[in-house]
Amino acid sequence: MNQPGDIVSKLTEQGYRLTPQRIMILSAIENSDDHISAEEIYAQVVAKYPNVNISTVYRTLELLKRLGLVTETDLGGGRVRYHPAAKGYHHHLVCRQCGAIIALDEALLSSLKSALLREYKFSADLRHLAIFGRCAKCD
Ligand SMILES: [Zn+2]
Ligand SMILES: [Zn+2]
Repeated sequence: MNQPGDIVSKLTEQGYRLTPQRIMILSAIENSDDHISAEEIYAQVVAKYPNVNISTVYRTLELLKRLGLVTETDLGGGRVRYHPAAKGYHHHLVCRQCGAIIALDEALLSSLKSALLREYKFSADLRHLAIFGRCAKCD
């Protein structure tokens, strides 16, 4: 497993203490190629530190969200997923029927973002978005 990079250095910069458990949670997030759930993170951490409680995972995720280091997106069906904010902007179309997740082109949302700013003076946080509906197969 790689050493976690970005998130760790940002946390230490801001004076947060890094326990081995916290480092494992950060590695799990940074090493997941796509999204990861709190439960999946917990499963990885508890394999190495059997005394870790899942609330430690939730607390760490809360901290990372507050610091803007991870994004949290609800992909429906109770699937809340995390990934490092540094992995950039991306969006999903989620089928309510079969649960399929389709990547959505960023360009489609940049026009929405500027329209919201123009019409509502509203600066939308469109870093990681899930739009729900029905996919072509289920239509
Ligand atoms: Zn995503
Ligand atoms: Zn579908």
